[in-house]
Amino acid sequence: MIQLYIPLNFLGVIYREIKQSLADLDRMFVFMDREREVDDAPDAVPLQLATCPAVRFEDVHFAYDPARPILRGVSFEIPAGKTVAVVGPSGSGKSTLARLLFRFYDVQQGRIAIAGQDIRSLTQASLRQAIGIVPQDTVLFNDTVEYNIAYGRAGASHDEVVAAAQAARIHDFIAGTPQGYATRVGERGLKLSGGEKQRVAIARTLLKNPPILIFDEATSALDSANERAIQAELQSAARNKTTLLIAHRLSTVVDAHEILVLDAGQILERGTHAQLLALGGRYAEMWSLQQSQAVGDEALA
Ligand code: ADP
Ligand code: MG
Repeated sequence: MIQLYIPLNFLGVIYREIKQSLADLDRMFVFMDREREVDDAPDAVPLQLATCPAVRFEDVHFAYDPARPILRGVSFEIPAGKTVAVVGPSGSGKSTLARLLFRFYDVQQGRIAIAGQDIRSLTQASLRQAIGIVPQDTVLFNDTVEYNIAYGRAGASHDEVVAAAQAARIHDFIAGTPQGYATRVGERGLKLSGGEKQRVAIARTLLKNPPILIFDEATSALDSANERAIQAELQSAARNKTTLLIAHRLSTVVDAHEILVLDAGQILERGTHAQLLALGGRYAEMWSLQQSQAVGDEALA
């Protein structure tokens, strides 16, 4: 993925680009340390979790460029073991919420807390250990499929890797390649489609099995048959986990503890699926639009 002969000043640019996709990049920090945007505080402590934690966003403001605010006072809580879903138009700031929780950037006002601990006071290693992300665009390591899945959990056995791949519906594809799990992927190996990469990321996250999950349009690149099959796995993975679910398809959010409709960096509507339908606002409008599209899709199938 990163070739070492690239001049160092380009690495920052590439790094920022890749970081957008929320890949696990810790390995790259070894030779890109100066490009980190956030650092451990001198007195940073490891995140201590006895049980599944609550996650809180408290009046969060954030801008990539000071001239253009992206999040403008976002507050919500994901109670321990519950799912909060975020929906809203493209560019409204949904993925930015995920990037901030994983602490690729620090908030500019307000705070994000896990189990009551401000994430800026924690070591990044312990924070990222506690969170599993399936990003919108997955970047894979130039390494084997096995490595890419097992990266979710150091010391995982081959059988555990296979079980995760089966749950993510990518096992048959991998087994069908000449070198199987030893197949190299990425820029210098087998090129995977967006949907295949997404399924590798899902397998990695299922294997990691962390207490906090972030799904950022995690099945957006899949065809509808695979999407339906994997949705069930993701739902069972999210059971009793504290989950931030960013959704492109509303059918995946109906059971969420709370649904937030984000618009231009602010929460426009919030509530359960039933409450938002009864409200008859933006969510209800999006819902009826997607329902009629779903009927259209069925007719075409
Ligand atoms: P969503 O996931 O809802 O589509 P994002 O959170 O990805 O939206 O982006 C919100 C806004 O922030 C968009 O206008 C996007 O162009 C902008 N943005 C995202 N990443 C960056 C960045 N690294 N630098 C500047 N602007 C960015
Ligand atoms: Mg997004």
